[in-house]
Amino acid sequence: MCADPLIVVLIGPGGVGKGTVARRLLELDERLWLSRSWTTREPRPTEDGTEYFFVKREVFEDAIARDFFYEWAEFHGNLYGTPRPAPPEGRDVLLEIEVQGASQVRERDPKALIILLTAPTMALLEARLRGRGDTEEHIARRLESTRREVERGRQLADVVVVNDDIERASGEIVSILEGLRQSRRNPS
Ligand code: 5GP
Repeated sequence: MCADPLIVVLIGPGGVGKGTVARRLLELDERLWLSRSWTTREPRPTEDGTEYFFVKREVFEDAIARDFFYEWAEFHGNLYGTPRPAPPEGRDVLLEIEVQGASQVRERDPKALIILLTAPTMALLEARLRGRGDTEEHIARRLESTRREVERGRQLADVVVVNDDIERASGEIVSILEGLRQSRRNPS
């Protein structure tokens, strides 16, 4: 038996459907526990305030100074960070973060499983970004950084999963997790 929680990191460009896949993973895999991040970004009109702990920049910076975060990064002018994970006993940790944060996780925990989620095409990605109410300026910046994010993600990730269909992609990730837990139980 392996008592340490598995750290599962979902990365991928904005609009790729990380949030939707993360929610589906929580439904499909009861061992997963989603970490709730802090951010200095304003809530979107489509958000209800539970997606993050939305905090002022000075509160976030004070938390950095107290070494509160497991990882944190600045992304498009806002700060995002994962508190040190404290999952309930027996649960594994799911982080849905960007690539700079994922590389900090890799340094802290070489055994973390980093999954890059990609879109089947760029056109689909653009359509998804538009559909969630971001401004045109925001969408343009996102598309610019997407290629870089995917490129860095590929270097870091243990596996790449194409989000062509939420059920299929989530099912693929659950199978990967089951295989990994199995090999942690029975190391050869
Ligand atoms: P959004 O503003 O669209 O909610 O998130 C922007 C990016 O920040 C996304 O790629 C999201 O996965 C990432 N993100 C969310 N929480 C965290 C976090 O705690 N740490 C890091 N490094 N990135 C995060």
